[in-house]
Amino acid sequence: MIGSFTFESLPCRVVFGSGTLSAAKAEVERLGGKRALVLTTPQQETEGKKLGSSLGALYAGIFSGATMHTPVEVTDQAIAAMKACGADCVVSLGGGSTTGLGKALALRTGINQLCIPTTYAGSEMTPILGETRGGLKTTVRDPAVLPETVIYDVDLTLTLPASLAATSGINAIAHAVEALYARDTNPVTSMMAEDGIRALARALPAIAAEPADRTARSEALYGAWLCGVCLGTVGMALHHKLCHTLGGTFDLPHAETHTVVLPHALAYNASAAPDAMARIGRAIGAVDAAQGLYELAARLNAKLALRDIGMPESGIDKAADLAVTNAYWNPRPLERNAIRDLIARAWSGEAPP
Ligand code: NAD
Repeated sequence: MIGSFTFESLPCRVVFGSGTLSAAKAEVERLGGKRALVLTTPQQETEGKKLGSSLGALYAGIFSGATMHTPVEVTDQAIAAMKACGADCVVSLGGGSTTGLGKALALRTGINQLCIPTTYAGSEMTPILGETRGGLKTTVRDPAVLPETVIYDVDLTLTLPASLAATSGINAIAHAVEALYARDTNPVTSMMAEDGIRALARALPAIAAEPADRTARSEALYGAWLCGVCLGTVGMALHHKLCHTLGGTFDLPHAETHTVVLPHALAYNASAAPDAMARIGRAIGAVDAAQGLYELAARLNAKLALRDIGMPESGIDKAADLAVTNAYWNPRPLERNAIRDLIARAWSGEAPP
């Protein structure tokens, strides 16, 4: 029997494929844009300028200062750049950091966004914005930050190094994993979650073996889209809370932190979410979901220990305290000692129990 549920579909136009970047000009016009400011990180400025040229008369300029965690000082600089060139819309080309900057501009100015993601972070599908002010990260949920249009172009992901593809892909899987046991889970989101995990679990090893494999790259990007929708439509739990806390407190890299923590968070929740575990196991082709995800990360040569990505051992207790400080929903109640064990295992890189 299908139980009662609420499903809210978020308004966003998606153009998916290979070579779809060429649709950027038409998509800006479709949004009614006359002057587009292109946003990138410093590392992707060249691609941003190329995109700008393809926009012809619609190109107002580029701001290439996007950086991790959307610091408000950078947003202020981007607003100044927007004003200086008279931009009436933004085109964000890049990963979650660049998407975040576009969202911050939309929140403050109401500007329309065309988002062109080049990683699997999934931020483009969510009404969520994480910002940092004076080193403190805050998260807002507001429909105003959801991009109006998203272009997924597989070709842009071919330059994503295999190591980044691996961790970014597992970051995406994490959204779908937690969607399957979310408090507001529903059959439509769960269908996307299972398919998203399946697509990524199949594609990531193929990308690791052959980074130029376009079929695998397109399957991974499709999976990332589905997982991003999951993140945008239902609430997350322990895993995302832990990654947020660890990343913010110890300044750990986003996708790598997700990759290390996911099998452990899943093992913690396994007994409280057997149906979700069965679906995850089926999607990745493993008997045990947590073990299967740990093995997937190992097969992709990803780092498996928090100590290898910058977390000090002395931080384990602090992280455990912080993880249980503000109550939030999780399928299994938050038990401080068990969470400390989870973090200690993730810190040392042991397999989940
Ligand atoms: P990122 O955007 O910081 O990108 C990492 C690096 O890879 C950057 O230097 C970038 O220029 C480069 N890069 C990106 N795509 C590339 C490509 N195709 N080829 C070569 N280089 C490429 O990393 P990310 O993991 O995509 O995003 C992380 C950020 O996104 C975090 O700040 C996180 O909080 C945020 N995020 C937000 C949400 C949300 O819903 N609000 C969801 C997921 C992530």
